[in-house]
Amino acid sequence: MHTILEVKQLHVHFPTSGKVVRAVDGVDISITQSETLAIIGESGSGKSVLGLALLGLLPANCTATGTVRYRGADLLRLSESELEMIRGSKIAWVPQNPAGAMNPSMTIGAQIGEPISLHVEKNRSIVRKKVLELLQFIRITPPEERIDSYPYSFSGGMLQRSLVAMGIAGLPELLIADEPTKGIDIMNRQAVSSLLRIVREKGITLLVITHDLSFARNLADRIAVMYSGRIMEIREKKSFFKGALHPYARGMLRSLPENGLHPIAGRTRETDKYDGGCRFRFRCTYAGEKCRVEPPLIPLPDGAAVRCWLYD
Ligand code: SF4
Ligand code: MG
Repeated sequence: MHTILEVKQLHVHFPTSGKVVRAVDGVDISITQSETLAIIGESGSGKSVLGLALLGLLPANCTATGTVRYRGADLLRLSESELEMIRGSKIAWVPQNPAGAMNPSMTIGAQIGEPISLHVEKNRSIVRKKVLELLQFIRITPPEERIDSYPYSFSGGMLQRSLVAMGIAGLPELLIADEPTKGIDIMNRQAVSSLLRIVREKGITLLVITHDLSFARNLADRIAVMYSGRIMEIREKKSFFKGALHPYARGMLRSLPENGLHPIAGRTRETDKYDGGCRFRFRCTYAGEKCRVEPPLIPLPDGAAVRCWLYD
């Protein structure tokens, strides 16, 4: 399997009230064809900004530097029209907040049909047929009765599934989903999870950005833990859930219901106040003198890597 997306030294900074927020601060990751990589982290860790940066969807006041290699091109250096050729047809984005992400004045069918007519098929009756198939696929039934509905008549879970349908409608090879289980009930979380599993079985590579560890555990092949703009640990899913290495990642696992819901003490420091040391050291019970210098991402024998001096 080959690498389809390679991110190197990605930095995304933006100014806010006289400060510079370093939302993503030197991220290296690569995604292999057909794998599912979950980027997990608490809110404010920079994971959504990372996702937006990959597709050139950042607000205008953000500065992104580094490289994002996709099929020989550096996505950070493409023009808006070149990016439009890639968005939806090669790499698709499933935004968070389904209610806000859908166009309230367009029918669900028209919104799912848009990427099809842009990237796959112009013939309107074939597009409609494909939309009906997608509605059936995401279990919004009967499709003939739902295709001309407007978003207001759908539940949050139905809207979330519709966003996934819009994402895969243009037949992309990589789907990036931002918090696809946020704000929906457990039944719908399971539905989104099985839907994405079927998407993966179709050979689509998935990058899932989530704070939902159970969801990541269900779906992912590899887990990357993000904290304060940095990747702290990246590992095969099974070994990660058997025993995470980074003190922050271990804290995340302890906060799961089956492990007693122990919260991680302290709060993320604001990234504009970064002083050069390990970004977790003000919350870490193992912090020592050495941690005043930030550790590199230390490679481990099994292909994993962890950013912590305990593994040096
Ligand atoms: Fe804790 Fe030091 Fe490891 Fe950072 S480098 S996680 S402060 S032990
Ligand atoms: Mg987010």
